[in-house]
Amino acid sequence: MTTVDVPISHLRENPYEIAKSQLRKVADTFAIDPNLINVLQECKKALVVSVPVSMDDGTTQVFQGYRVTHNVARGPSKGGIRYHADVTLDEVKALAMWMTWKCALSGIPFGGAKGGVVCNPKTMSEGELQRMTRRFTSEIINEIGPEKDIPAPDVGTDGRVMAWIFDTYSMNKGHSVLGVVTGKPLTIGGSLGREEATARGALYCVREAVRKRQLSLQGTTVAVQGFGNVGSYLAKFLAEDGATVIAVSDSTSGLYNPNGIDVQAAIAHKRETGSLAGFRGADPISNEDLLVLECDVLAPCALEQVITAENADKVKAKIIVEGANGPVTPAADEILEEKGVLVLPDILANAGGVIVSYFEWVQGLQEYFWKEAEVNAKLNDIITRAFNETWSTMESRDISMRLAAYGLAVQRVSEATVTRGIYP
Ligand code: NAD
Repeated sequence: MTTVDVPISHLRENPYEIAKSQLRKVADTFAIDPNLINVLQECKKALVVSVPVSMDDGTTQVFQGYRVTHNVARGPSKGGIRYHADVTLDEVKALAMWMTWKCALSGIPFGGAKGGVVCNPKTMSEGELQRMTRRFTSEIINEIGPEKDIPAPDVGTDGRVMAWIFDTYSMNKGHSVLGVVTGKPLTIGGSLGREEATARGALYCVREAVRKRQLSLQGTTVAVQGFGNVGSYLAKFLAEDGATVIAVSDSTSGLYNPNGIDVQAAIAHKRETGSLAGFRGADPISNEDLLVLECDVLAPCALEQVITAENADKVKAKIIVEGANGPVTPAADEILEEKGVLVLPDILANAGGVIVSYFEWVQGLQEYFWKEAEVNAKLNDIITRAFNETWSTMESRDISMRLAAYGLAVQRVSEATVTRGIYP
């Protein structure tokens, strides 16, 4: 047996400490009772499991897995499962807390959770991934369920992984339980529009921001970091709206063309070869240079902490749309605010995924499925309302959009907690 080594993390700061300090800042600005903050800064439950997996070469590797529930005051907890070599318990806790705020800001009846397994899915065979997923699901099976805690895809996981979780859970219950995960393939109860939903929600937020600033997306220049689920669809949608996507990147390579990249062709290239490397019609660019490119809109859609105190003053974009969770550190936030950069915060900008996950859960419970146009229209309603509520709070209190979004969300969770009372 071997235990998987944990590599040096991409995380420079502890994300859970960041999440807690953001919460304290919100408490000060919105005068929230310190007793409530004591409750809200802790996670309700954190499960650490070891996941032994028979590998194709005959060895047994043991992976570390986590499932954390931050809060359930407003409903069952909801949050993705991440497969990545850098996953840590504190990262999962931070992501779980951000899920609580994201659901509250959108007004959907969920609390926050997150999960992760420390692994590199790119180096694992389909069989190894499936065995790891099924064993991980078995280890957390008593904690998840449609009324309890509902996983979804995140970095390194997709509809295929959700299908294995759904099947493992259902096999153990003796019948199909559609509501146990979201982000399922359409053939087994997924929702139309779910795959593109996070990017579509981000698009709706960018449209509103551009409208508020009395600009137009036509001819707006855009740079997108990360070319997975969120980044590739967001680049595609923005290009369809008339924007010029001048740069895109993934973990292996970046592409730059000031006249615009053919996003559809880049998606096809990535699908065929597994990476952006070797795509013709653009020059190479590093991920560091992409972030500080001359452009109107910058969309970090990969991992946390890519815009820090070190590079924030070099950012030239006028609008940053946080497709990823936590891509801007608090120190960078202050620098960007000083420079007048409008940051559309993660809990708003990437909420489209959890909003359509909510629709998928509702459709699964009712066994009645909606048309894609209906899904997209309802998503637009919910996220645009959240955007406008955040915008008015920002203006009326003269604070950043992030602080406004967190303030609204934390107030809603606080109210739910007070209304329910602290048990017993
Ligand atoms: P994904 O695995 O589909 O894609 C991640 C992308 O980031 C890949 O293209 C990968 O190559 C790239 N990447 C990884 N490390 C990188 C690096 N160091 N530099 C540049 N690119 C790098 O994941 P996803 O689902 O698109 O998630 C991306 C982000 O969006 C995450 O922060 C996730 O938490 C957040 N998010 C995802 C959803 C969703 O529905 N999938 C919802 C809300 C938020």
